[in-house]
Amino acid sequence: MPEYLVKESGLKEFFQSLANGRHLLTPQGTGDKCKLEEAGPDKVNLDYSNTHMSPKSAFFPQSENLMAFHNKSDKPNPFVYQDLGDKAQPTVIFGIRPCDARGLSISNRVFQNDRFTDPYWKGKYEQTIKIGLACASPSPQCFCAAMGGSPYGELGLDVLAFKVEGGLGLKPVTAQGEELIKQTNAAQEDLAQEIKKQEAKAIEAQGVGTDLKPIDDKDLMELFQDPHWTATAENCLNCGVCTFFCPTCHCFDIQDEQSEQGGIRMRNWDTCMSWLFTVHGTGHNPRPSKTERVRQRFMHKLKYIPLKQDGIRGCTGCGRCVVMCPVNIDIREVALKMCQPPAQSQA
Ligand code: SF4
Ligand code: SF4
Repeated sequence: MPEYLVKESGLKEFFQSLANGRHLLTPQGTGDKCKLEEAGPDKVNLDYSNTHMSPKSAFFPQSENLMAFHNKSDKPNPFVYQDLGDKAQPTVIFGIRPCDARGLSISNRVFQNDRFTDPYWKGKYEQTIKIGLACASPSPQCFCAAMGGSPYGELGLDVLAFKVEGGLGLKPVTAQGEELIKQTNAAQEDLAQEIKKQEAKAIEAQGVGTDLKPIDDKDLMELFQDPHWTATAENCLNCGVCTFFCPTCHCFDIQDEQSEQGGIRMRNWDTCMSWLFTVHGTGHNPRPSKTERVRQRFMHKLKYIPLKQDGIRGCTGCGRCVVMCPVNIDIREVALKMCQPPAQSQA
């Protein structure tokens, strides 16, 4: 598909046409306050490093009502159920960083696969056109390339946007994305070489990542039983911050809020870092200590998801957990330990 260009003077009109009949979320605010949200087309920030939270909440909200029930005791069928199911509306998100788009694609295979479809996720995901914004200058905490991605990666996107001198370049990735671009003031322009040049520069700026192939090659049980996990888990507070900020974490809990008159069934983000997450009704907990819980998080990201998703790692290298962890646990250091032979990984 050909590339397109929007001149700087036409950016406001471009964003107005994206919003035509759709919700439009764009990067708003600066620094660590930057969020993807609805606002005027003249307030779009094109110079953020990444949004504070990942865009997963647009598809999988932190708290979501699934169903309401009302007690109508004067009726023959006293309980009335009301599906609060997905009321998704046509939406465009502009400015998803490629690491986060990759994260959405990973979660999409969890919420929609050949065994199961989550209607709440599906409705929103399929009604949303995702426009990425490439990272020409990755932040120091970014390591998407080491995780198999790229600052100019296209996985999970309908269009990849990238800044060029005097405007914004657009590379359609899907037919749906190209259709949308054709409805705007963007004009065709050959920018193929420009993207390649920018991508090579951005990957070089990120530096050469560690080769994580030993994790792929190691047997699952060998990684699972490696003695380093206790030392790795020692400092963890089990606060769950890493999982809430992670674009690929997707665990939830379902709870009923109820009274005599009825109630609501909702699902809320949950975290494998919590002791409660795996405790059984009998009181038995198969992950009783921090060691099992921390091991679960890293094994899930770096071994279980790649085994289930054709080698794609469950960490996209967005760096949020590295920045947000209150005790500086760094997934890159853990990955290095997982790469080493058991005798050396205990350090
Ligand atoms: S943010 Fe850090 S301390 Fe908190 S659960 Fe994650 S690894 Fe543990
Ligand atoms: S594990 Fe950390 S660096 Fe990797 S995708 Fe999740 S938050 Fe980002």
